[in-house]
Amino acid sequence: MSTLRFHALKEVFNHKPVRVEENIRRSELFGSNVFNESTMRQYLTKEAFESVMDAVGKGSKIDRIVADHISTGMKEWAISKGATHYTHWFQPLTGATAEKHDAFFETIGNGLAIEKFGGGQLVQQEPDASSFPNGGIRNTFEARGYTAWDPTSPAFIFGTTLCIPTVFVAYTGEALDYKTPLLRALQAVDSAAVAVCKYFDKNVKKVNASLGWEQEYFLIDNGLAMSRPDIVLTGRTLLGHSPAKGQQLDDHYFGTIPNRAMAYMRDLETECMLLGIPVKTRHNEVAPNQFELAPIFEEANLAVDHNSLLMDVMDKIAERHNFKVLFHEKPFAGVNGSGKHNNWSLSTNTGVNLLSPGKTPMSNLQFLTFFINTIKAVYDNEELLRAAIASASNDHRLGANEAPPAIISVFIGEQLTKVLDELENVTNGKLSPQEKTDLKLNVVGKIPDVLLDNTDRNRTSPFAFTGNKFEFRAVGSTANCANPMTILNAIVAKQLIDFRNEVEALISKKDMKKDDAIFNVLREYIKTSKPILFEGNGYGEAWEKEAKKRGLSNNKTTPEALKAKVSKQAIKMFDDLGVMNKVESEARYEIEMEEYVLRIQIEGRVLGDIARNHVVPTAVRYQNILIDNVKGLKEIYGTSFKNLAKEQLNLIEEISNHIEGINSNVTKMTAERKNANAIESLEKKASVYCNKVKPLFDDIRYHCDKLELLVDDELWPLTKYRELLFTK
Ligand code: ADP
Ligand code: MG
Repeated sequence: MSTLRFHALKEVFNHKPVRVEENIRRSELFGSNVFNESTMRQYLTKEAFESVMDAVGKGSKIDRIVADHISTGMKEWAISKGATHYTHWFQPLTGATAEKHDAFFETIGNGLAIEKFGGGQLVQQEPDASSFPNGGIRNTFEARGYTAWDPTSPAFIFGTTLCIPTVFVAYTGEALDYKTPLLRALQAVDSAAVAVCKYFDKNVKKVNASLGWEQEYFLIDNGLAMSRPDIVLTGRTLLGHSPAKGQQLDDHYFGTIPNRAMAYMRDLETECMLLGIPVKTRHNEVAPNQFELAPIFEEANLAVDHNSLLMDVMDKIAERHNFKVLFHEKPFAGVNGSGKHNNWSLSTNTGVNLLSPGKTPMSNLQFLTFFINTIKAVYDNEELLRAAIASASNDHRLGANEAPPAIISVFIGEQLTKVLDELENVTNGKLSPQEKTDLKLNVVGKIPDVLLDNTDRNRTSPFAFTGNKFEFRAVGSTANCANPMTILNAIVAKQLIDFRNEVEALISKKDMKKDDAIFNVLREYIKTSKPILFEGNGYGEAWEKEAKKRGLSNNKTTPEALKAKVSKQAIKMFDDLGVMNKVESEARYEIEMEEYVLRIQIEGRVLGDIARNHVVPTAVRYQNILIDNVKGLKEIYGTSFKNLAKEQLNLIEEISNHIEGINSNVTKMTAERKNANAIESLEKKASVYCNKVKPLFDDIRYHCDKLELLVDDELWPLTKYRELLFTK
């Protein structure tokens, strides 16, 4: 008999809520482990402080001598907080975070030692980069990689290590990480948006993209999770029969948070406070043992770092509470999966949210300009936006009728639809004074009022306007937000540049007034981008048909979707904006395709192993018990045994059929994998994994799950769904 499942179940009873003390107010804890503005004032010389602030605000370079001062101050602060080591903290293209710790400790001869951390060590390091994915960049250029300090994201202490957020680039300049293109995209949207803002307010000097992510996750008892090889190796269950009760009663969503989970959350939030991650909201999600955590939004680069850091912290704190956090988009079949809504907006240094309707007709025209340009950007780049969220794990979620479909569309609500309808009819060419007054009074001027009633929030939309921001809902829960944020900010930057050029052309060539030119360009945008607007049910089949008619893409799988990243149009756009050159774009495509293949390959191997080595032997064992039983009945009852053994004989046959089903499908899957592995072209290989290997998972699973229902519970080796999902 398998003991791991039963051992884990027994252990669960010893897992009590961990006591968590919260004696200090959160506002006081907030940022205590961050080298933030107030700490810098305390530990840095005036010159060093100003130099960092300039680097953050204006992107200016930090002088090497000043860097020495900064590192000294940083070290003093870190040591005072109990830190012993420092690390450059970066996000290689695995999507996870990477760190290599070095001690401050250094020997100075004569058996003496000091604590040392120089400007050089702060500014640049050379981790051995050969084991990180590089998509051929480093082979092409035979260059090593280095990490370089990103002063726009403050250093922090985690545990006893000073972590310095850095970019990771090849010596030839190509980005080997997610952060570098993000910073470049943020720079691009900043300058493009500032130029457009000048039409409305000459004082705008900087535009920041903001991001507020909402992280969904499952919390599973660690022992139970560890008893499942599929969870350990792939982050999700590859088999398991649905429990009699799932989420149909809706009794978990927004319900009372279970005690153990609550203790975990409080502990986690305390750590977040120390690290300056402004988490604010926590609640139960739809599926059993599923939860959500959301912060107050921040500048996008910092928010991306904070989300990556949060995911690390969540894992670490979970150990203390005997939990395992599942970030996978679809850890359990039959109940909801997890996403990571990316709430996004643009705001100026003058404190204006450009996607929030204002109080005057002028500020509303500014709002409409950014609003309509965003819609146009999404329309022109819908396939690229779909590619931004493509991964093997998110494929389970998109279009699975619980999350937005793989079709990108924009929801704006009834009221704004009306506004756009009116704007679509403005005169072609110069507007009459009467028309302008009318527009200002009755259309543009009315927006703040109408938005107040715009409470309808279509949950099936992948990209929804929610009053003062867009919510990109199709992002997966495991995603590094840098990827979707780079693409979204880049396409909006490109769009704003085009917009300005078109307005300028009308002003200079057609002698139009600024307002007239803006109305004219917006009118055309509204007309052309109409197909992307959709207010209906995104889960329905009718939408799939309608979207096809409208010419929208519906790339259901990652290998199909990713191609948009290397389309001529995308490569050119990223290159023109300075976000990624051709090599960098192609490298990311290759890495993501490769990752897709590897994930499916691993899942196939794990499933094959569990099915053959865990499920089949268990089924045979149970079948043998039945056979013994039948033999016994025959011995006692002679020829009339058949009547008494009818059910057992049926079961014996059914079990044999399922065993056959498993074995033949596993054999088929292994053959398909071998076939795929021999294919040279990455694209073709990914396609075989997607279309030949993966579908067999369902067939294998079907037979395993049937056996789970037939075999004696006491023999079943794999912790069951009801145990994983309902153990609190
Ligand atoms: P929900 O979408 O769950 O109803 P909210 O609309 O209150 O919740 O906000 C969800 C998330 O949106 C939060 O993380 C919040 O910080 C973020 N958010 C709010 N305003 C903005 C903004 N201007 N830019 C980016 N994110 C924002
Ligand atoms: Mg939301």
